[in-house]
Amino acid sequence: MQTFPNLTLDGRAFINGERQWAVAEARFDNISPVNGQTLCEIARCDATDIDLAVQAARHSFDDKRWRGLPPAARKRVMVRFSDLILAHGEELAQMETLDMGKPIRYAHSVDVNSAANCIRWYGEAIDKVYDEIAPTSDQALALIRREPMGVIGVIVPWNYPMIMAAWKIAPALACGNSVVLKPSEKSPLTALRLAELALQAGVPAGVFNVVPGYGLESGSPLALHMDVDGIGFTGSTKVGKQIHVMAGQSNLKRAWTELGGKSPFIVMDDCPDLERAVQAAVGSIFFNQGESCNAPSRLFVHQRIKNAFMERALQLVPQYQPADPRLPDTVMGAVVDQTQRDTVLGYIEKGQQEGAHLLCGGQAALTDTGGFYVQPTIFDGVTNNMTIAREEIFGPVLSVMGFNDVHEAVRLANDHVYGLQASIWSRDLNTAHGVARALRAGTVHVNQYDEDDITVPFGGYKQSGVGRDKSLHAFDKYTELKTTWIRIDSPV
Ligand code: NAD
Repeated sequence: MQTFPNLTLDGRAFINGERQWAVAEARFDNISPVNGQTLCEIARCDATDIDLAVQAARHSFDDKRWRGLPPAARKRVMVRFSDLILAHGEELAQMETLDMGKPIRYAHSVDVNSAANCIRWYGEAIDKVYDEIAPTSDQALALIRREPMGVIGVIVPWNYPMIMAAWKIAPALACGNSVVLKPSEKSPLTALRLAELALQAGVPAGVFNVVPGYGLESGSPLALHMDVDGIGFTGSTKVGKQIHVMAGQSNLKRAWTELGGKSPFIVMDDCPDLERAVQAAVGSIFFNQGESCNAPSRLFVHQRIKNAFMERALQLVPQYQPADPRLPDTVMGAVVDQTQRDTVLGYIEKGQQEGAHLLCGGQAALTDTGGFYVQPTIFDGVTNNMTIAREEIFGPVLSVMGFNDVHEAVRLANDHVYGLQASIWSRDLNTAHGVARALRAGTVHVNQYDEDDITVPFGGYKQSGVGRDKSLHAFDKYTELKTTWIRIDSPV
Protein backbone atom coordinates (compact mmCIF):
# COMPACT_ATOMS: atom_id res chain seq x y z
CA MET A 1 0.00 0.00 0.00
CA GLN A 2 1.42 3.37 -0.94
CA THR A 3 -1.02 6.11 -0.18
CA PHE A 4 1.25 9.12 0.07
CA PRO A 5 3.23 9.76 -3.12
CA ASN A 6 7.04 9.82 -2.84
CA LEU A 7 7.12 8.08 0.54
CA THR A 8 9.80 5.40 0.81
CA LEU A 9 9.44 2.86 3.59
CA ASP A 10 12.50 0.91 4.67
CA GLY A 11 12.09 -1.69 7.42
CA ARG A 12 15.73 -2.68 7.77
CA ALA A 13 17.54 -2.23 11.07
CA PHE A 14 20.10 0.55 11.48
CA ILE A 15 23.29 -0.73 13.07
CA ASN A 16 26.69 0.93 13.11
CA GLY A 17 25.57 3.56 10.62
CA GLU A 18 24.17 1.10 8.07
CA ARG A 19 20.82 -0.31 7.08
CA GLN A 20 20.69 -4.10 7.33
CA TRP A 21 18.28 -6.98 7.56
CA ALA A 22 18.36 -9.29 10.57
CA VAL A 23 21.28 -11.72 10.48
CA ALA A 24 18.79 -14.60 10.46
CA GLU A 25 16.99 -12.87 7.53
CA ALA A 26 13.69 -13.04 9.43
CA ARG A 27 11.09 -10.38 8.57
CA PHE A 28 7.52 -9.54 9.45
CA ASP A 29 4.77 -7.64 7.68
CA ASN A 30 4.04 -4.13 8.86
CA ILE A 31 0.24 -3.78 8.69
CA SER A 32 -1.32 -0.32 8.56
CA PRO A 33 -4.29 0.18 10.89
CA VAL A 34 -5.65 2.71 8.40
CA ASN A 35 -6.94 -0.04 6.08
CA GLY A 36 -5.41 -3.33 7.22
CA GLN A 37 -3.02 -3.48 4.27
CA THR A 38 0.69 -4.35 4.37
CA LEU A 39 2.96 -1.31 4.27
CA CYS A 40 6.35 -3.01 4.03
CA GLU A 41 8.47 -5.71 5.62
CA ILE A 42 10.35 -5.06 8.87
CA ALA A 43 13.56 -6.76 10.00
CA ARG A 44 12.62 -9.26 12.70
CA CYS A 45 15.71 -8.83 14.83
CA ASP A 46 16.73 -11.14 17.63
CA ALA A 47 19.49 -11.51 20.22
CA THR A 48 22.19 -11.74 17.53
CA ASP A 49 21.23 -8.39 16.01
CA ILE A 50 20.89 -6.80 19.45
CA ASP A 51 24.37 -8.03 20.24
CA LEU A 52 25.76 -6.50 17.05
CA ALA A 53 24.12 -3.17 17.87
CA VAL A 54 25.38 -3.23 21.46
CA GLN A 55 28.90 -4.03 20.25
CA ALA A 56 28.75 -1.11 17.81
CA ALA A 57 27.48 1.17 20.55
CA ARG A 58 30.15 -0.02 23.01
CA HIS A 59 32.90 0.47 20.47
CA SER A 60 31.70 4.00 19.72
CA PHE A 61 31.55 4.76 23.43
CA ASP A 62 34.99 3.38 24.19
CA ASP A 63 36.77 5.23 21.39
CA LYS A 64 35.09 8.48 22.48
CA ARG A 65 34.01 9.47 18.97
CA TRP A 66 30.91 11.10 20.48
CA ARG A 67 31.34 11.44 24.22
CA GLY A 68 34.83 12.86 23.65
CA LEU A 69 33.43 15.86 21.80
CA PRO A 70 33.03 19.07 23.77
CA PRO A 71 29.38 19.59 24.81
CA ALA A 72 29.14 22.57 22.46
CA ALA A 73 30.08 20.32 19.53
CA ARG A 74 27.45 17.73 20.49
CA LYS A 75 25.01 20.59 20.77
CA ARG A 76 25.66 21.68 17.19
CA VAL A 77 25.06 18.16 15.90
CA MET A 78 21.84 17.78 17.86
CA VAL A 79 20.52 21.11 16.66
CA ARG A 80 21.24 19.97 13.07
CA PHE A 81 19.45 16.69 13.86
CA SER A 82 16.43 18.67 15.07
CA ASP A 83 16.49 20.83 11.94
CA LEU A 84 16.55 17.70 9.75
CA ILE A 85 13.53 16.29 11.57
CA LEU A 86 11.65 19.49 10.80
CA ALA A 87 12.85 19.50 7.20
CA HIS A 88 11.53 15.93 6.81
CA GLY A 89 8.42 16.68 8.85
CA GLU A 90 5.89 15.77 6.21
CA GLU A 91 7.61 12.48 5.45
CA LEU A 92 7.86 11.52 9.13
CA ALA A 93 4.26 12.53 9.79
CA GLN A 94 3.03 10.42 6.89
CA MET A 95 4.97 7.42 8.18
CA GLU A 96 3.54 7.85 11.67
CA THR A 97 -0.02 8.10 10.34
CA LEU A 98 0.28 5.00 8.17
CA ASP A 99 2.12 3.05 10.85
CA MET A 100 -0.10 3.66 13.86
CA GLY A 101 -3.23 5.40 12.60
CA LYS A 102 -3.02 8.86 14.17
CA PRO A 103 -4.47 11.82 12.23
CA ILE A 104 -1.95 13.40 9.90
CA ARG A 105 -2.68 16.89 11.27
CA TYR A 106 -1.45 15.84 14.74
CA ALA A 107 1.33 13.58 13.44
CA HIS A 108 2.87 16.74 12.04
CA SER A 109 1.83 19.50 14.44
CA VAL A 110 2.33 17.43 17.60
CA ASP A 111 4.59 14.43 17.03
CA VAL A 112 7.11 15.84 14.56
CA ASN A 113 7.34 19.23 16.24
CA SER A 114 7.62 17.82 19.77
CA ALA A 115 10.28 15.31 18.79
CA ALA A 116 12.33 17.99 17.01
CA ASN A 117 11.92 20.40 19.91
CA CYS A 118 13.01 17.75 22.41
CA ILE A 119 16.19 16.91 20.47
CA ARG A 120 17.00 20.61 20.13
CA TRP A 121 16.28 21.39 23.78
CA TYR A 122 18.60 18.73 25.20
CA GLY A 123 21.25 19.63 22.64
CA GLU A 124 21.06 23.27 23.62
CA ALA A 125 21.01 22.43 27.34
CA ILE A 126 24.09 20.27 27.43
CA ASP A 127 26.66 23.05 27.22
CA LYS A 128 24.90 25.00 29.97
CA VAL A 129 24.81 22.49 32.80
CA TYR A 130 27.65 22.76 35.28
CA ASP A 131 29.11 20.15 37.56
CA GLU A 132 29.55 20.77 41.31
CA ILE A 133 32.20 21.34 43.96
CA ALA A 134 31.15 20.09 47.38
CA PRO A 135 31.37 22.33 50.48
CA THR A 136 34.08 20.24 52.16
CA SER A 137 36.98 21.32 54.38
CA ASP A 138 39.87 23.48 53.21
CA GLN A 139 42.20 20.49 53.04
CA ALA A 140 40.30 18.89 50.22
CA LEU A 141 38.56 19.59 46.99
CA ALA A 142 35.65 17.29 46.13
CA LEU A 143 34.49 17.48 42.52
CA ILE A 144 31.10 16.01 41.69
CA ARG A 145 30.97 15.28 38.03
CA ARG A 146 28.29 13.77 35.79
CA GLU A 147 29.70 11.20 33.41
CA PRO A 148 27.84 9.50 30.57
CA MET A 149 26.70 6.07 31.67
CA GLY A 150 27.82 4.11 28.61
CA VAL A 151 25.53 2.07 26.37
CA ILE A 152 21.86 2.91 26.87
CA GLY A 153 19.09 0.56 25.72
CA VAL A 154 15.81 2.27 24.90
CA ILE A 155 12.52 0.41 24.45
CA VAL A 156 9.42 2.38 23.46
CA PRO A 157 5.71 1.81 22.74
CA TRP A 158 3.66 2.60 19.66
CA ASN A 159 1.36 5.41 20.75
CA TYR A 160 3.75 8.36 20.18
CA PRO A 161 6.63 6.53 18.51
CA MET A 162 8.81 9.55 17.72
CA ILE A 163 8.10 11.52 20.88
CA MET A 164 8.67 8.58 23.22
CA ALA A 165 11.95 7.82 21.46
CA ALA A 166 13.01 11.49 21.55
CA TRP A 167 12.32 11.84 25.29
CA LYS A 168 14.98 9.18 25.89
CA ILE A 169 17.49 9.41 23.08
CA ALA A 170 17.79 13.21 23.35
CA PRO A 171 19.07 13.40 26.96
CA ALA A 172 21.00 10.13 26.55
CA LEU A 173 22.84 11.33 23.43
CA ALA A 174 23.34 14.87 24.71
CA CYS A 175 25.22 13.46 27.73
CA GLY A 176 27.54 11.51 25.45
CA ASN A 177 26.08 8.02 25.69
CA SER A 178 25.71 5.57 22.83
CA VAL A 179 22.21 4.20 22.27
CA VAL A 180 20.43 1.09 21.04
CA LEU A 181 16.74 1.81 20.44
CA LYS A 182 14.13 -0.93 20.09
CA PRO A 183 10.92 0.62 18.72
CA SER A 184 7.56 -1.09 19.02
CA GLU A 185 6.94 -3.81 16.46
CA LYS A 186 3.66 -1.98 15.75
CA SER A 187 5.24 1.33 14.71
CA PRO A 188 8.96 1.03 13.89
CA LEU A 189 9.21 3.23 10.78
CA THR A 190 9.95 6.69 12.14
CA ALA A 191 12.58 5.45 14.60
CA LEU A 192 14.51 3.88 11.74
CA ARG A 193 14.30 7.08 9.73
CA LEU A 194 15.41 9.14 12.75
CA ALA A 195 18.60 7.10 12.93
CA GLU A 196 19.41 8.00 9.31
CA LEU A 197 18.75 11.68 9.97
CA ALA A 198 20.95 11.58 13.09
CA LEU A 199 23.83 10.16 11.04
CA GLN A 200 23.27 12.83 8.39
CA ALA A 201 23.37 15.48 11.11
CA GLY A 202 26.75 14.24 12.30
CA VAL A 203 26.02 11.72 15.08
CA PRO A 204 28.87 9.28 14.39
CA ALA A 205 28.13 5.75 13.16
CA GLY A 206 27.58 3.31 16.01
CA VAL A 207 26.37 5.95 18.45
CA PHE A 208 22.68 5.63 17.62
CA ASN A 209 21.41 2.22 16.51
CA VAL A 210 17.81 1.13 15.92
CA VAL A 211 16.88 -2.54 16.09
CA PRO A 212 13.24 -3.40 15.33
CA GLY A 213 11.56 -6.62 16.39
CA TYR A 214 9.18 -8.21 18.84
CA GLY A 215 9.38 -7.68 22.59
CA LEU A 216 10.45 -11.15 23.57
CA GLU A 217 12.84 -11.56 20.62
CA SER A 218 14.65 -8.22 20.64
CA GLY A 219 13.41 -6.27 23.69
CA SER A 220 14.29 -8.94 26.25
CA PRO A 221 17.82 -9.54 24.89
CA LEU A 222 18.42 -5.80 25.15
CA ALA A 223 17.13 -5.63 28.73
CA LEU A 224 19.15 -8.72 29.65
CA HIS A 225 22.34 -7.71 27.85
CA MET A 226 25.41 -7.73 30.07
CA ASP A 227 27.04 -4.86 28.23
CA VAL A 228 24.13 -2.42 28.40
CA ASP A 229 24.59 0.03 31.26
CA GLY A 230 21.16 1.55 31.48
CA ILE A 231 17.72 1.01 30.07
CA GLY A 232 15.00 3.56 29.43
CA PHE A 233 11.63 1.91 28.96
CA THR A 234 8.18 3.26 28.16
CA GLY A 235 5.30 0.83 27.89
CA SER A 236 2.86 -1.19 29.93
CA THR A 237 3.24 -1.75 33.66
CA LYS A 238 3.24 -5.50 33.04
CA VAL A 239 6.32 -5.36 30.82
CA GLY A 240 7.87 -2.56 32.89
CA LYS A 241 7.97 -4.85 35.91
CA GLN A 242 9.74 -7.46 33.80
CA ILE A 243 12.29 -4.85 32.73
CA HIS A 244 13.26 -4.27 36.37
CA VAL A 245 13.52 -8.04 36.90
CA MET A 246 15.70 -8.43 33.80
CA ALA A 247 17.93 -5.58 34.94
CA GLY A 248 18.38 -7.36 38.27
CA GLN A 249 18.87 -10.76 36.67
CA SER A 250 21.64 -9.51 34.43
CA ASN A 251 24.13 -6.78 35.30
CA LEU A 252 21.99 -4.53 37.52
CA LYS A 253 21.79 -2.03 34.70
CA ARG A 254 20.00 1.16 35.69
CA ALA A 255 16.33 0.75 34.76
CA TRP A 256 13.89 3.61 34.29
CA THR A 257 10.29 2.92 33.44
CA GLU A 258 7.43 5.14 32.26
CA LEU A 259 4.31 3.01 32.53
CA GLY A 260 0.54 2.96 32.51
CA GLY A 261 -2.06 5.39 33.81
CA LYS A 262 -5.72 5.75 34.65
CA SER A 263 -5.73 9.44 35.33
CA PRO A 264 -8.54 11.06 37.36
CA PHE A 265 -10.17 14.28 36.19
CA ILE A 266 -12.08 15.89 39.09
CA VAL A 267 -14.65 18.61 38.48
CA MET A 268 -15.91 20.38 41.63
CA ASP A 269 -19.29 22.12 41.70
CA ASP A 270 -17.49 25.49 41.79
CA CYS A 271 -15.65 24.74 38.52
CA PRO A 272 -14.67 28.16 37.16
CA ASP A 273 -15.45 27.39 33.52
CA LEU A 274 -17.68 24.41 32.85
CA GLU A 275 -17.43 24.69 29.08
CA ARG A 276 -13.64 24.61 29.19
CA ALA A 277 -13.71 21.67 31.59
CA VAL A 278 -16.04 19.67 29.33
CA GLN A 279 -13.93 20.46 26.27
CA ALA A 280 -10.76 19.40 28.10
CA ALA A 281 -12.24 16.18 29.47
CA VAL A 282 -13.72 15.05 26.16
CA GLY A 283 -10.86 16.33 23.99
CA SER A 284 -8.18 14.72 26.14
CA ILE A 285 -9.73 11.26 26.39
CA PHE A 286 -10.34 11.06 22.65
CA PHE A 287 -7.04 12.63 21.56
CA ASN A 288 -4.77 10.08 19.87
CA GLN A 289 -7.74 7.65 19.83
CA GLY A 290 -7.49 7.43 23.61
CA GLU A 291 -4.06 5.84 23.25
CA SER A 292 -2.30 8.20 25.65
CA CYS A 293 -0.78 7.09 28.93
CA ASN A 294 -2.00 10.32 30.55
CA ALA A 295 -5.51 10.28 29.07
CA PRO A 296 -8.01 11.32 31.79
CA SER A 297 -9.94 8.06 31.56
CA ARG A 298 -11.67 8.39 34.97
CA LEU A 299 -13.91 11.45 35.08
CA PHE A 300 -15.28 12.43 38.52
CA VAL A 301 -17.99 15.10 38.42
CA HIS A 302 -19.72 16.61 41.46
CA GLN A 303 -23.31 15.33 41.58
CA ARG A 304 -24.68 18.88 41.65
CA ILE A 305 -23.35 19.67 38.16
CA LYS A 306 -23.08 16.21 36.65
CA ASN A 307 -26.23 16.29 34.50
CA ALA A 308 -25.30 19.61 32.90
CA PHE A 309 -21.72 18.47 32.42
CA MET A 310 -22.68 15.20 30.72
CA GLU A 311 -25.30 16.82 28.53
CA ARG A 312 -22.65 19.13 27.09
CA ALA A 313 -20.10 16.30 26.83
CA LEU A 314 -22.47 14.26 24.68
CA GLN A 315 -23.00 17.24 22.40
CA LEU A 316 -19.25 17.32 21.70
CA VAL A 317 -18.84 13.62 20.93
CA PRO A 318 -19.84 13.73 17.23
CA GLN A 319 -16.74 15.85 16.54
CA TYR A 320 -14.64 12.83 17.43
CA GLN A 321 -16.18 10.25 15.10
CA PRO A 322 -13.26 8.33 13.59
CA ALA A 323 -12.29 8.98 9.99
CA ASP A 324 -9.42 8.24 7.62
CA PRO A 325 -6.36 9.69 9.41
CA ARG A 326 -4.73 10.62 6.10
CA LEU A 327 -7.37 13.31 5.58
CA PRO A 328 -6.37 16.74 6.86
CA ASP A 329 -9.56 17.38 8.87
CA THR A 330 -9.66 14.08 10.75
CA VAL A 331 -9.36 14.44 14.54
CA MET A 332 -9.69 10.77 15.50
CA GLY A 333 -8.04 8.05 13.44
CA ALA A 334 -7.53 4.31 13.74
CA VAL A 335 -6.38 2.42 16.83
CA VAL A 336 -3.04 0.78 16.31
CA ASP A 337 -4.06 -2.72 15.21
CA GLN A 338 -6.74 -5.36 15.24
CA THR A 339 -5.61 -6.75 18.60
CA GLN A 340 -5.91 -3.33 20.22
CA ARG A 341 -9.32 -2.73 18.65
CA ASP A 342 -10.57 -6.09 19.92
CA THR A 343 -9.10 -5.39 23.37
CA VAL A 344 -10.93 -2.06 23.55
CA LEU A 345 -14.20 -3.63 22.38
CA GLY A 346 -13.71 -6.38 24.98
CA TYR A 347 -13.46 -3.76 27.74
CA ILE A 348 -16.61 -2.06 26.46
CA GLU A 349 -18.46 -5.37 26.63
CA LYS A 350 -17.13 -5.95 30.13
CA GLY A 351 -18.32 -2.49 31.20
CA GLN A 352 -21.83 -3.31 30.08
CA GLN A 353 -21.75 -6.74 31.73
CA GLU A 354 -20.66 -5.18 35.02
CA GLY A 355 -23.55 -2.71 34.97
CA ALA A 356 -22.07 0.55 33.66
CA HIS A 357 -24.42 2.63 31.55
CA LEU A 358 -23.29 3.14 27.94
CA LEU A 359 -24.05 6.73 26.99
CA CYS A 360 -22.59 6.68 23.48
CA GLY A 361 -20.40 4.69 21.11
CA GLY A 362 -19.39 1.18 22.04
CA GLN A 363 -18.92 -0.20 18.54
CA ALA A 364 -16.21 -0.73 15.96
CA ALA A 365 -16.39 1.86 13.19
CA LEU A 366 -15.48 2.07 9.48
CA THR A 367 -15.13 -1.71 9.26
CA ASP A 368 -15.61 -1.59 5.48
CA THR A 369 -12.23 0.15 5.15
CA GLY A 370 -10.40 -2.93 6.45
CA GLY A 371 -8.88 -0.67 9.13
CA PHE A 372 -9.33 -0.68 12.90
CA TYR A 373 -11.56 2.06 14.29
CA VAL A 374 -13.59 2.43 17.48
CA GLN A 375 -16.40 4.89 18.17
CA PRO A 376 -15.81 7.44 20.94
CA THR A 377 -17.40 5.78 23.95
CA ILE A 378 -18.66 7.13 27.28
CA PHE A 379 -19.88 5.11 30.25
CA ASP A 380 -21.82 6.68 33.10
CA GLY A 381 -22.73 5.00 36.37
CA VAL A 382 -19.26 3.53 36.70
CA THR A 383 -17.95 2.50 40.11
CA ASN A 384 -14.29 2.56 40.97
CA ASN A 385 -14.15 -1.22 41.32
CA MET A 386 -15.41 -2.01 37.82
CA THR A 387 -12.90 -3.39 35.35
CA ILE A 388 -13.26 -0.32 33.11
CA ALA A 389 -12.22 1.88 36.07
CA ARG A 390 -9.40 -0.41 37.26
CA GLU A 391 -7.62 -1.30 34.03
CA GLU A 392 -5.99 0.87 31.42
CA ILE A 393 -8.08 0.44 28.26
CA PHE A 394 -5.85 2.51 25.99
CA GLY A 395 -8.67 3.39 23.65
CA PRO A 396 -11.39 6.05 23.28
CA VAL A 397 -13.39 5.05 26.35
CA LEU A 398 -14.35 7.40 29.20
CA SER A 399 -15.62 6.16 32.58
CA VAL A 400 -17.73 8.71 34.46
CA MET A 401 -18.42 8.70 38.21
CA GLY A 402 -20.27 11.13 40.47
CA PHE A 403 -19.19 12.28 43.93
CA ASN A 404 -20.67 14.35 46.74
CA ASP A 405 -17.73 16.04 48.43
CA VAL A 406 -14.03 16.71 47.98
CA HIS A 407 -12.99 13.95 50.41
CA GLU A 408 -14.83 11.35 48.39
CA ALA A 409 -13.33 12.69 45.14
CA VAL A 410 -9.76 12.51 46.42
CA ARG A 411 -10.29 9.09 47.97
CA LEU A 412 -11.66 7.67 44.70
CA ALA A 413 -8.98 9.37 42.60
CA ASN A 414 -6.17 7.98 44.74
CA ASP A 415 -7.71 4.53 45.01
CA HIS A 416 -5.71 3.17 42.13
CA VAL A 417 -2.43 1.41 41.37
CA TYR A 418 -1.49 4.14 38.89
CA GLY A 419 -0.44 7.71 39.63
CA LEU A 420 0.60 9.34 36.38
CA GLN A 421 -1.51 12.49 36.04
CA ALA A 422 -4.59 14.08 37.54
CA SER A 423 -6.69 17.19 37.23
CA ILE A 424 -8.75 19.29 39.65
CA TRP A 425 -11.22 21.97 38.56
CA SER A 426 -12.26 24.46 41.23
CA ARG A 427 -12.32 28.24 41.60
CA ASP A 428 -11.43 27.93 45.28
CA LEU A 429 -7.70 28.40 45.85
CA ASN A 430 -7.66 26.24 48.96
CA THR A 431 -9.50 23.38 47.25
CA ALA A 432 -7.28 23.57 44.16
CA HIS A 433 -4.01 23.61 46.11
CA GLY A 434 -5.17 21.18 48.76
CA VAL A 435 -6.38 18.61 46.26
CA ALA A 436 -3.30 19.06 44.07
CA ARG A 437 -1.16 18.19 47.10
CA ALA A 438 -3.34 15.27 48.13
CA LEU A 439 -3.39 13.59 44.73
CA ARG A 440 -0.75 10.90 44.35
CA ALA A 441 0.32 11.66 40.79
CA GLY A 442 3.45 12.85 39.02
CA THR A 443 1.59 15.75 37.42
CA VAL A 444 -1.54 17.56 38.62
CA HIS A 445 -3.34 20.04 36.40
CA VAL A 446 -5.45 22.79 37.95
CA ASN A 447 -8.30 24.16 35.82
CA GLN A 448 -6.77 22.84 32.59
CA TYR A 449 -5.42 19.59 31.21
CA ASP A 450 -3.35 20.28 28.12
CA GLU A 451 -0.35 22.32 29.24
CA ASP A 452 2.84 20.57 28.27
CA ASP A 453 6.42 21.65 27.97
CA ILE A 454 9.78 19.97 27.58
CA THR A 455 10.99 21.94 30.64
CA VAL A 456 8.79 20.01 33.09
CA PRO A 457 9.30 16.43 34.30
CA PHE A 458 6.92 13.70 33.12
CA GLY A 459 6.39 10.45 34.98
CA GLY A 460 4.38 8.81 37.67
CA TYR A 461 3.86 7.76 41.25
CA LYS A 462 3.11 4.18 42.23
CA GLN A 463 2.91 1.66 39.37
CA SER A 464 3.06 4.37 36.71
CA GLY A 465 6.80 3.94 36.69
CA VAL A 466 10.20 4.82 38.07
CA GLY A 467 11.97 8.06 37.15
CA ARG A 468 11.04 11.06 35.04
CA ASP A 469 11.36 11.88 31.36
CA LYS A 470 11.76 15.48 30.10
CA SER A 471 13.31 18.49 31.84
CA LEU A 472 16.88 18.62 33.17
CA HIS A 473 15.96 15.82 35.60
CA ALA A 474 16.15 13.35 32.70
CA PHE A 475 19.95 13.77 32.70
CA ASP A 476 19.94 11.91 36.04
CA LYS A 477 18.84 8.78 34.22
CA TYR A 478 21.68 8.64 31.75
CA THR A 479 24.64 9.79 33.81
CA GLU A 480 26.66 8.41 36.71
CA LEU A 481 27.78 10.79 39.44
CA LYS A 482 31.48 10.62 40.12
CA THR A 483 33.14 12.18 43.14
CA THR A 484 36.83 13.01 42.85
CA TRP A 485 38.63 13.89 46.12
CA ILE A 486 41.75 15.99 45.76
CA ARG A 487 44.00 16.54 48.77
CA ILE A 488 45.23 20.08 49.21
CA ASP A 489 48.34 20.59 51.34
CA SER A 490 48.48 24.30 50.86
CA PRO A 491 51.91 25.88 51.39
CA VAL A 492 50.27 29.26 52.00
P1 NAD B 1 4.14 -2.82 25.85
O1 NAD B 1 4.62 -2.87 27.24
O2 NAD B 1 3.37 -3.97 25.32
O3 NAD B 1 5.37 -2.64 24.85
C1 NAD B 1 6.28 -1.59 24.99
C2 NAD B 1 7.59 -1.98 24.34
O4 NAD B 1 8.13 -3.07 25.07
C3 NAD B 1 7.47 -2.45 22.90
O5 NAD B 1 8.58 -2.00 22.17
C4 NAD B 1 7.50 -3.96 23.04
O6 NAD B 1 7.99 -4.63 21.89
C5 NAD B 1 8.46 -4.13 24.20
N1 NAD B 1 8.31 -5.39 24.92
C6 NAD B 1 7.21 -6.16 25.04
N2 NAD B 1 7.49 -7.24 25.79
C7 NAD B 1 8.78 -7.16 26.14
C8 NAD B 1 9.65 -7.97 26.92
N3 NAD B 1 9.23 -9.10 27.48
N4 NAD B 1 10.93 -7.56 27.10
C9 NAD B 1 11.37 -6.40 26.56
N5 NAD B 1 10.59 -5.60 25.80
C10 NAD B 1 9.31 -5.97 25.60
O7 NAD B 1 3.32 -1.47 25.72
P2 NAD B 1 2.59 -0.89 24.44
O8 NAD B 1 1.32 -1.65 24.24
O9 NAD B 1 3.53 -0.78 23.31
O10 NAD B 1 2.27 0.61 24.91
C11 NAD B 1 1.19 0.96 25.68
C12 NAD B 1 1.60 1.18 27.12
O11 NAD B 1 2.61 2.18 27.20
C13 NAD B 1 0.45 1.71 27.96
O12 NAD B 1 0.42 1.00 29.18
C14 NAD B 1 0.81 3.16 28.20
O13 NAD B 1 0.27 3.71 29.35
C15 NAD B 1 2.29 3.09 28.24
N6 NAD B 1 2.86 4.42 28.01
C16 NAD B 1 3.39 5.11 29.08
C17 NAD B 1 3.91 6.39 28.91
C18 NAD B 1 4.49 7.16 30.06
O14 NAD B 1 5.23 8.10 29.81
N7 NAD B 1 4.19 6.82 31.30
C19 NAD B 1 3.92 6.96 27.63
C20 NAD B 1 3.39 6.23 26.56
C21 NAD B 1 2.87 4.96 26.77
